[in-house]
Amino acid sequence: LKTRVKSDMKTSSSPLVLPPVHTLPIHEMLQAQHQSFDPESEDAEAENAFFVADLGEVYRQHLRWKALLPRIEPFFAMKCNPDPMVLRLLASLGVGFDCASKNEIQTVLDLGTVHPNRIIYANPCKQNAFVQYARRNSVMMMTFDNAEELHKIKRFHPDAHLVLRILTDDSKSLCKLGLKFGAPLDTTGYLLATARELGLNVIGVSFHVGSGCFDANAFGEAVVRARRVFDQATEHGYHFRFLDVGGGFPSAHVTDGITFEKVAAILGSTVDALFGPEVRVIAEPGRYYVGSAFTLATQVIARRTIVHDVAAQDKEEEEGKEDKEQPAHMYYINDGMYGSFNCIMFDHQVCEPQVLLKDGAFAYKQEVDGERGMASVWGPTCDSIDCISTRARLPLMETGDWMYFENMGAYTITAASQFNGFRRSEVLYTTTEPEVVLHL
Ligand code: PLP
Repeated sequence: LKTRVKSDMKTSSSPLVLPPVHTLPIHEMLQAQHQSFDPESEDAEAENAFFVADLGEVYRQHLRWKALLPRIEPFFAMKCNPDPMVLRLLASLGVGFDCASKNEIQTVLDLGTVHPNRIIYANPCKQNAFVQYARRNSVMMMTFDNAEELHKIKRFHPDAHLVLRILTDDSKSLCKLGLKFGAPLDTTGYLLATARELGLNVIGVSFHVGSGCFDANAFGEAVVRARRVFDQATEHGYHFRFLDVGGGFPSAHVTDGITFEKVAAILGSTVDALFGPEVRVIAEPGRYYVGSAFTLATQVIARRTIVHDVAAQDKEEEEGKEDKEQPAHMYYINDGMYGSFNCIMFDHQVCEPQVLLKDGAFAYKQEVDGERGMASVWGPTCDSIDCISTRARLPLMETGDWMYFENMGAYTITAASQFNGFRRSEVLYTTTEPEVVLHL
C-alpha cells in the first residue's frame, strides 16, 4: 500500500494480471493511502480521488441472498457497476448476468468462466447487430415488450428464448423504468398472439418494479400480475416455465423503510404461492450487490471563503427567514457530477461528505475536533452544475485534506465521463471476508 496501484495493473487492460486485493477494513485502506501520499510530490496522479472496494461486502450480500431467497437465481445487472473484480467474484460464485448491450455481453463472456446460458439480454429494445451478436454467441434468453421487437428477433435470432417484460407499478421507486419499458397488461394478449404467429419461443415473464424501490409490496403485486400473464399465455398455446422478477432490491446500507429482509419475505412467499417448482425463477439485482461495497475518497483541491453581506444576512434573520446560516466556504474536490457523482443526477442520490483527514489526524468515523460550519462542496470541472452538496456541515478543511463518501458502489463509476479532461477515479480492492481471495 505504500504506492498507489497503477492503472496499468487493472484487469480491464490485462485480464491475466489481477490488481492486489488487500485484507484491511476500508478505513485502514484509506488511512494507508493517506500515509503514502506525499504533498510535495510532483506526481499528479498521487492525489487523485480513488475508490476502495470491499469485495467481502459483495460476498456477504451474495450469502444473504442465498439464505433469504434460495429459490431465486440472481443475475447481476452489470450496468450498475461492471467492475472487473466484482464480475470475476460473482462469476465464480455462480451468479448469472443481466446484460443490456453487446459490450456488456462481451465483457461477461471474456471472463472465460461464464456459459452463455448464465446471461439474459434484458433490454427490451435492442440494436439489430447486437441481437445477431447474441445469436452468434449462443446467448438465448432475451426480453421484449413490443411487437416490432418480435419481428426483429424473428429475423435475427429466431430460436431465442423470449421473456415478455410486463409493466408494473413503479410509483414507489426512485427510478421509474415503466416510463420507458414494460408491456401494459391490455397489450400482452396481442403480443403473445403475434409471437405465436411468428413461431417464436416465449418462455415466460419479466418485470422491474423500478430501481431504488422503497415499498416491498411492489414486488408481491408484480408477481400477481405476472401470474395473470402466465395464465393468459396458456390460452395462446404457451406453457411458461420462467419468471424474472427484475431488480430494485435495496443496497445493504438502506435501512429506512425497505430492507432486503422485507422484500425477500414478501417476494419469496408470493412466488411460492403462485408458481409451482417447475417454474425457474431468476432476478436481476444491481445495487443490492455493490451499493454499500464501494467508498470514494476525494481530495480537497481548492477552498474559497465566501464574503457575506452581513447586513443582508441580519435583515433576513430579523425577517425570520429559514436556513439563515449561509455556507461560509466552498470546497472543490477532485471527483464530481461529471465523474462518480453522476449518481446525484441520474440516480437521485444524496451524497454526504465525511471528513477523512483533518490536519493530518485520522478521523474516519470519528468526530473531528473543533467547530463545524456550513459549506458547499463542488466537483473539479468548470461547470456550475458540478455541485455535490449545497449544504454540508464540515470542519474547516485545507487544500490537501480528504473527504470520503460511503455507499458509492451503484450507478457511479459506470456512468462517469471524462469531461474537462478529468480521469475516472480508480479502484483499490480489499476484502473483509478472507475466503473471497479463493474465488478470484
Ligand atoms: N434490470 C434492468 C432491466 C434494469 O434496467 C436495471 C436497472 O436499471 C436493473 C435490472 C437493476 O436494477 P437495481 O440496480 O435497482 O437492482
